[in-house]
This record gives sequence, C-alpha cells and structure tokens, in this order.
Amino acid sequence: MSMHPEQSAVTVLGLGPMGRALAGAFLDAGVRTTVWNRTPGRDRDLVARGAVGARTAEEAVTAGGLIVVCVVNYDAADGILRPGPVTDALKGRTLVNLTADTPVRARDTARWAAGHGIRYLDGAIMTPTTTIGTPAAVFIHAGPADLYEEHRPVLAALGGTHTHLGEEIGRAAAYDIALLDIFWTAVAGYTHALALARAEGVTAGELAPFAKGIGAILPPLFEQAAQDVDNGTFSGEGNPITSAVSSMAHIIEASEAHGIDAGVMRAAEGVARRAIGRGHGADGFARLAEVLARH
Ligand code: NDP
Repeated sequence: MSMHPEQSAVTVLGLGPMGRALAGAFLDAGVRTTVWNRTPGRDRDLVARGAVGARTAEEAVTAGGLIVVCVVNYDAADGILRPGPVTDALKGRTLVNLTADTPVRARDTARWAAGHGIRYLDGAIMTPTTTIGTPAAVFIHAGPADLYEEHRPVLAALGGTHTHLGEEIGRAAAYDIALLDIFWTAVAGYTHALALARAEGVTAGELAPFAKGIGAILPPLFEQAAQDVDNGTFSGEGNPITSAVSSMAHIIEASEAHGIDAGVMRAAEGVARRAIGRGHGADGFARLAEVLARH
C-alpha cells in the first residue's frame, strides 16, 4: 500500500451510521473507496460521492489493500469475514477491525487471521459519527507496530487522533470496554436522575445546567482516582466512603418512594458497604476499584 492516502485503495465493510461516516471520510480525503453492506442500498449516498459499491463482500475485499470492517459486533464481523471465499480474498491483505466487542473476541479474531495469512489490526472508535473526519475523532489501535505504521497515513484520513496502544491485540478492546463502562454507567445514571427529578416535578431542562456542572467535576476526580489506584493510596480526606454511602442511600430511598427502580444505585451502594465492612470506610471512593478487583 502506498504512503499517500489519495493513491490508496480502501474497502469499508459495514455501512451502519459509523461505517458510512468512515467511508465518507476516506472519500473526502481522496482515497479510492469500495463499500459493501449486508443489507443492500445503504451505499447509495456514498456511491453518489464516488465510492464503488461492491455486490458481494468478496468483491469488496478484492478491490482494497486495506480492509476496514465496522459492524455491530464480532459475531456480525465473523459472519462477513469467515465464509471461505471472503477469507481467501483477505489473504495477504490488511484487515482493520473497528467493530466494538471484547478483548477475548479480538484475540480470537487475531488467531483466525494469523491462521489464514491475513494481516490484522484491531481498533476501536471512542467518539460519535459526527466527529469522524474532524479533529475531534478518537481512534485507538492494537497489533503489530510495523503494520500500524504502514497504514497510519491512510488511517489518518479518518481525522482526529490515532493512538497505537501496543502489540497485544486485545489492548484496544480493553481500553474500549473500560471507557464504555464509564460512558454507559454515566448515561444510565443520568437517565435515572431525569426520572427521579421528573417524579419530583423538576423538568429535564431545569436540571440540565446543573447536570453539566456535575459532569465538569469528574475530570479532576478521574485524575485523582488514577493516582490513588496506581499508587495504592486511597485518601478519603474531604469525602470518605462512609459519607458517600449515606448520600447513595438517600437516592435509593427517594427513588423507591416514587416506585422508581434503584437497582443500579443499590449495586453501587452494596460495593461501597462491602468496602466499609473490610475496614476502608475512611478511604476515598477509588478504594472500590481495588475491592471489586479482589472479588
Ligand atoms: P450498529 O452497531 O448498529 O451496526 C450496524 C452495522 O452492523 C450495519 O452495517 C449492519 O448491517 C451490520 N450488521 C448487523 N448485524 C449483522 C450481521 N449479522 N451480519 C452482517 N452485518 C451485520 O451501528 P454503527 O454503524 O453505529 O456501529 C458500528 C460499530 O461502531 C459498532 O461496533 C459500534 O459500537 C461502533 N461505534 C459506533 C459509534 C456511533 O456513534 N455510532 C461510536 C463508536 C463506536 P445491516 O445494515 O445489513 O443491518
């Protein structure tokens, strides 16, 4: 593959919202782009912008030097990549899997790829479709460093920052799954807060400016917790677990008084109480990461 994006040929398999955004960014950067999707018709706008619409996944793979797959999960990716003719067409080419799933699935796919002479990089996308092709996009990658370096100029067409996290192929998925843990727990917390506020006659719009204030408190807390966890020091000065657990109990009580499920908060409070039971009540909340890891 050439070092110049505009002389490269890329294939995008999977044209959901993210696959379409990726293919669009390649096209905008002048990369020859072939696209394919299980359900036909999703390539219409891309073809109008200059993409080649392949009739089969095998045909699509044959057209590209770099094959990007981005579908709902690895079961779907396997369904596309593992039938014999597609696997044969992938031999000798580079496959970049930007589908989200678990580290175990990434390692399994790497073993399958190695067994079929397919050069494999595993990645994840940490930002929404609207960021793709802009400086705000965030991509993480894992796999052989030389393979990553070879394809970095073309991947740069997707915009944003690209970080190679190491050769261990499960590493991008490990970051992805941990970061999505933060995201989905926060989103679940926010939707629960909206329900609780509404039950108290507070509209989502009224709460939102204050909710954003809560969000702004988190980045410095993340930094502090990272230091605490890495150093094994859990200073609870200012906000010990005993105080946090009392606040959590209020949320549970107020929710359940309105008949609102408080299962998520009950689970978090349960871990905090376990930490207190082990004598960590005066520690900061980051102690819970250590308690959870010890099972
Ligand atoms: P989806 O996660 O809904 O994936 C849709 C794509 O998966 C479509 O191309 C769909 O094909 C394909 N697909 C689903 N099941 C199968 C199957 N059994 N066989 C073949 N193809 C299948 O939407 P996105 O495009 O948004 O996401 C793609 C990936 O990108 C996911 O892993 C997601 O987590 C990740 N991602 C998405 C972000 C976003 O903002 N959307 C942000 C960051 C990461 P068909 O049209 O035929 O159904």
